[in-house]
Amino acid sequence: MSSPGSGSQTIETIAVIGAGTMGHGIAQVAAAAGFKVLLNDVDRESLARGVAAIEANLAKGIQRAKLTEDDRDRTLQQIHGTTNLKECAAADLIVEATPEKLELKKEVLRQLEFASDHPFIFASNTSSLSITEIAGASKRPEAVIGMHFFNPVHIMRLVEIVVGEKTSAETVQTVKSVGHKMRKEPIVVKDVPGFASSRLGVVLGLEAMRMFEQGVASAQDIDTAMELGYNHPMGPLKLTDLVGLDVRLNIAEYLHRELGSEAFRPPEVLRRMVSEGKLGKKTGEGFYDWSRGVAER
Ligand code: NAD
Repeated sequence: MSSPGSGSQTIETIAVIGAGTMGHGIAQVAAAAGFKVLLNDVDRESLARGVAAIEANLAKGIQRAKLTEDDRDRTLQQIHGTTNLKECAAADLIVEATPEKLELKKEVLRQLEFASDHPFIFASNTSSLSITEIAGASKRPEAVIGMHFFNPVHIMRLVEIVVGEKTSAETVQTVKSVGHKMRKEPIVVKDVPGFASSRLGVVLGLEAMRMFEQGVASAQDIDTAMELGYNHPMGPLKLTDLVGLDVRLNIAEYLHRELGSEAFRPPEVLRRMVSEGKLGKKTGEGFYDWSRGVAER
């Protein structure tokens, strides 16, 4: 774990592995912060889609007068797309955003270390896997850390810095300072299941479902309680509909198993709705009716 007051490494180039939902956004905020960025994907089409998504985000920023055309050009010229993983091993910081599979993430890390002796920091964007386990694939586990961004990355301010058993204080400081440069608010969290954000967010969502199940109030009124009473931008049931009830059920089962707390036991209503195919916005129905593209009840 980290101790305060340690130095930090100089980061000039950031490689982002995986150009999907998260990877393209991470590349965008890194480039906007002035880092040289290598954006990598195994799949040429996914890479092109990732770059196109960055261009679309920047165009929207200009439309809303949040960015100038100069900002857009400066950001885009910092980004170099590549399907060659080896090229990325020369970066100072590598942010991994490949699919949520432990073996895949370990393999990417092994291949990068095999490709070069450059002392890069390896940060995984995993939302649930153990950083300590990922670091097990490394010759330098002190330089392996979690950097958990939120979707959409260019909008959401939080980044969770997840500290593995062997992560050094210098690595924590370096990644924190990179997070600040990306205009994010980093929080430092121990490598425990659910980190901080999922553990709190999931428990709130599950309790809201239990209240809905028991008829305490309507879905809309439960959400309004948190939106107006606690200033949450969105109530827990609407958020569950957006995340996907199946995704929430998987996380709840995982946290229930790992943490052993009854607070994470998936409510019956969640299991039933998932078995009926009511997965939230993506299927048109969840706690709200999304058939017209917006939440209605
Ligand atoms: P995604 O499926 O949208 O993108 C993954 C990309 O990785 C794809 O483009 C795929 O072609 C590419 N890829 C697969 N194998 C690769 C390899 N060996 N080398 C390089 N690229 C490879 O996934 P995502 O939603 O962006 O999730 C990525 C990571 O971020 C996961 O660990 C996920 O848990 C985490 N995460 C996701 C979210 C979210 O809301 N989607 C939020 C926080 C964290």
